[in-house]
Amino acid sequence: MRIGAIEAGGTKFVCGVGDEAGNIEDKASFPTGHPEKTMERAIQYFNGKGVEAIGIGSFGPVDLDPASPTYGYITTTPKPGWAGFPFLDTLRQAFDVPFGWDTDVNAAAFGEAMWGAAKGLGSCLYFTVGTGIGIGVYTEGNLAHGLVHPEGGHMLTRRHVEDHADGQPFPGICPYHGDCLEGMASGPAIEKRWKRKGSELPNDHPAWALEAYYVGQAVTNAILMLSPKKIILGGGVMHQTQLFPMIRTEIQNNLNGYVSAKAISARIDEYIVPPGLGDDAGLCGALALGLKAAGRMQQQKP
Ligand code: ADP
Ligand code: ZN
Repeated sequence: MRIGAIEAGGTKFVCGVGDEAGNIEDKASFPTGHPEKTMERAIQYFNGKGVEAIGIGSFGPVDLDPASPTYGYITTTPKPGWAGFPFLDTLRQAFDVPFGWDTDVNAAAFGEAMWGAAKGLGSCLYFTVGTGIGIGVYTEGNLAHGLVHPEGGHMLTRRHVEDHADGQPFPGICPYHGDCLEGMASGPAIEKRWKRKGSELPNDHPAWALEAYYVGQAVTNAILMLSPKKIILGGGVMHQTQLFPMIRTEIQNNLNGYVSAKAISARIDEYIVPPGLGDDAGLCGALALGLKAAGRMQQQKP
């Protein structure tokens, strides 16, 4: 069975074709431009490839409620042309196959749960720390949707007392909340605070202690709230691998022994991990969404 997959990011679209075992056989990527043009390229990509279902993990916010008249739409993004765009309907008009549809981070969590670092566990969280911060939630064998969908990247964080820029407390950059997690710890927040891109800062720069402080808080909150069996940290900023031990230490200090689990006290190196699927987590997750839509994915039980 050949399944199509789309990882729709705010800056780039990745389209691919894969099989039931999660192997990506082919992929292509192009910039996320104006919606009509971008969808045209995606349709062109799948034309003639014989896919029997297509899964999509999209940047958002998106409408995930099948009973809603705007199911499959991008809802309120500031990205020009995309707010209110009927993403799913546009593809449905081109291909008469079942479609899977979810957020980009939920897709990545699903991919990791099926074939990656959280395989067989029944629960995991996928954090992306990049241009934005997003948290995908896979719990009790299902992706969490709820009222809209989780927006953990904007959770409120406690500010670090020494977090200053230009002699003032750093106010954060989220246009909605200022100093939420994304406002304090996304790639652009690092760049705004230090006036250099994160990739240009040395490994021992004070930026990374602050970054670990904020991401560590968010992961701590997530552990307390959802008790996931694995936490996967991906995205461009997490290419700074020195962050992993720093974040693990923050979490252990925050929890202070309260959550009684060997995964935290003794094996945290295996609990807080990079994506098992590397940069393909999102695309593999979209593939898994397609397989599920085709009725070919067994639901995992915890
Ligand atoms: P996106 O979130 O747009 O899908 P990425 O996950 O690659 O893409 O995140 C891009 C952000 O990550 C940018 O703000 C960039 O500065 C930052 N970034 C990318 N690589 C690194 C790195 N090696 N170290 C620190 N920050 C990085
Ligand atoms: Zn915010």
